[in-house]
Amino acid sequence: MEENPLSRRRLLWGAAGVAGAALATAGLPQLMGPEEKVKPALPSPVRKARAAAGPPAAVRRDTSVDYAPAVWIEADESNYSSSDRPEAYPIEYVIIHLTTDHFSRMLRTFKDPAERVSAHYMISSTGARIAQCVRERDVAWHSNSVWYNHRSIGIEHEGWVDQAVYSDAMYQASAVLTATICAKYDVPVDRDHILGHVEVPESTHEDPGHRWNWDKYMKLVETARRRVRT
Ligand SMILES: [Zn+2]
Repeated sequence: MEENPLSRRRLLWGAAGVAGAALATAGLPQLMGPEEKVKPALPSPVRKARAAAGPPAAVRRDTSVDYAPAVWIEADESNYSSSDRPEAYPIEYVIIHLTTDHFSRMLRTFKDPAERVSAHYMISSTGARIAQCVRERDVAWHSNSVWYNHRSIGIEHEGWVDQAVYSDAMYQASAVLTATICAKYDVPVDRDHILGHVEVPESTHEDPGHRWNWDKYMKLVETARRRVRT
């Protein structure tokens, strides 16, 4: 995965700050420039101490997920809104999307601050990979509707509207995720609350498209929901 450029920038500045402090205590003038200027002068005990301590606390990343099978691959913070759901807004819907792009390319899109788009989860066409890109308490930008974005969890599925490349395993993985979300936030398992992107009022998108098998999907969600402990 490509690294988030913003966090890399922070990392560099954080490292430059530690290096500058170390040089000041060594009796050298404190350098305020970028890391590459000060790095060669770092005394080795400082380098060893830094390696033992890990990255500075300010840049340590929280990689926890809301759904255990998922891996945290964060969207750029410019592509979603921080929130405190369900206190700030009730979570009442799950919105189903198709990426119309490859899994890895879509993750890169979410990391591009120019794209202004994200989803909470993305599932690969094989069902083997689940990425969480936005925390459930935050508002992902996935549906073109601010109102629905504030009240929903968005799940992207690797696929294309006119190509049924997704597998039974992908349906199953998605159904268990959706059932878990429904259990957690008390979302009814029905088609009034589990929507396709196309069904969001005034949507300009047609995903998940006519090949998405809603009957099959909803049966899987219902079955999974009965098994999820609340
Ligand atoms: Zn969509």
